[in-house]
Amino acid sequence: MKALVIHAAHDLRLEERAVEPLKPREIAVRIGAGGICGSDLHYFHNGGFGAVRLKEPMILGHEIAGTVASVGAEVASVQPGDRVAVSPSRPCGACRYCLAGQQNHCLNMRFYGSAMPFPHIQGAFREVLVCDAVQAHKVSGEVSLGEAAFCEPLAVCLHAARRAGPLLGKRVLVTGCGPIGALCVLSAHAAGAAEIVATDIADATLAVVQKLGIAKTLNTAADPDALKPWEADKGSFDVLFEASGNMRALTGALAALRPGAVIVQVGTGGDFTLPISVLVAKELELRGTFRFHEEFATAVQMISSRHIDVRPLLSATLPMDRAVEAFQLASDRSKAMKVQIAFG
Ligand code: ZN
Repeated sequence: MKALVIHAAHDLRLEERAVEPLKPREIAVRIGAGGICGSDLHYFHNGGFGAVRLKEPMILGHEIAGTVASVGAEVASVQPGDRVAVSPSRPCGACRYCLAGQQNHCLNMRFYGSAMPFPHIQGAFREVLVCDAVQAHKVSGEVSLGEAAFCEPLAVCLHAARRAGPLLGKRVLVTGCGPIGALCVLSAHAAGAAEIVATDIADATLAVVQKLGIAKTLNTAADPDALKPWEADKGSFDVLFEASGNMRALTGALAALRPGAVIVQVGTGGDFTLPISVLVAKELELRGTFRFHEEFATAVQMISSRHIDVRPLLSATLPMDRAVEAFQLASDRSKAMKVQIAFG
C-alpha cells in the first residue's frame, strides 16, 4: 500500500509500505478520506512546531474515515463493508490519567502522526490502516467518508465547548475562522448559544462561516474597531473561543468580554503577553483545551445525523498522488477552509 510520508520540511513523499498483519482485536480499514490539519501543515512547512521536530520519516495524518476491509478473530463491533470514522487517539488505558478519566492527558498516548514522542507515532494517511477495533466508529449511510473525516476536528471543538461550560443562551465570540474556529461556531450553536460572533483577518474563511447562517462575521484586519459595539458597559460576551493562536486576537477581544467571562484558548502558538490586570479586574477565566476523548463518539453521532452539517467547510478533495498540491492549497487561507485527500 501507499502512504504519505514527511521526511523534512517540504519533503513529502508517496511511499510503499507493508500492511501489518491483523491481531485478534484489530481491523484493517481502507482509508477513503483524510483531512489536512494545521499540525500536518506545520510538519510540511517547518518540519515541526515549537520543540516538536521531525527526527525520522513519519506518515502524516489523523483526520480519517474509511471502509472496513477485514477484521481480527475477536472483533464483533464492526464487519467488512462498514463505513467508519477512526479515532486517532490511542490512550494506554492504564496510566494515572487514563484511570482518572483524563485520557486526553495519557502519559503513553500514541496519537497518529505525532513527532512528540520518539520513535514518532506514524500517522494514518495511507491506503490501508490497521487499528484497534475500538478506534472505529460506524457512520450512517447518509454521510460521505469526507464528512466522516471531520469527526476528529469536531471532537476537538466539542471538547473545547465542554471546557467552556454550559453555552445555552450565552453570547459567544470565536476568534479565528479556520476549520477549528468554524467547527467551534457550529459546536456553540449546537450547544444553544444565543448569539455567535466570529472574527478573522481573511475574507474567504469569514465568507464560509457567514454562509453557515448562524454567526455574525467581522474582519478585524479591515476594521480593527469591529468589536467596539460589544465593548460597552464592561463587555458583552460570556465566552471566547480563541481559535487563531494569535496573541493579538486574544488581547484584542478582552474588552468585549463581560466580567466573569470564560476564555477557552483552542489555538496554540508561541508565547503570549497578556494584560494581566484586565484578567484580574474583570475576573476572566483563561482555560486550555487539549484534544478529546469521549467527544469523538459524540462527533460521530452529530455528523452522522447531520445535527452538525460539516459539508460547507470542505473546500476541495485531491487524490493522494497530488498530495503536495493539496498541502499547498490547504495552506492558502484565501482559497481553502478544509482540504482532504482521497486515498485508494
Ligand atoms: Zn494512559
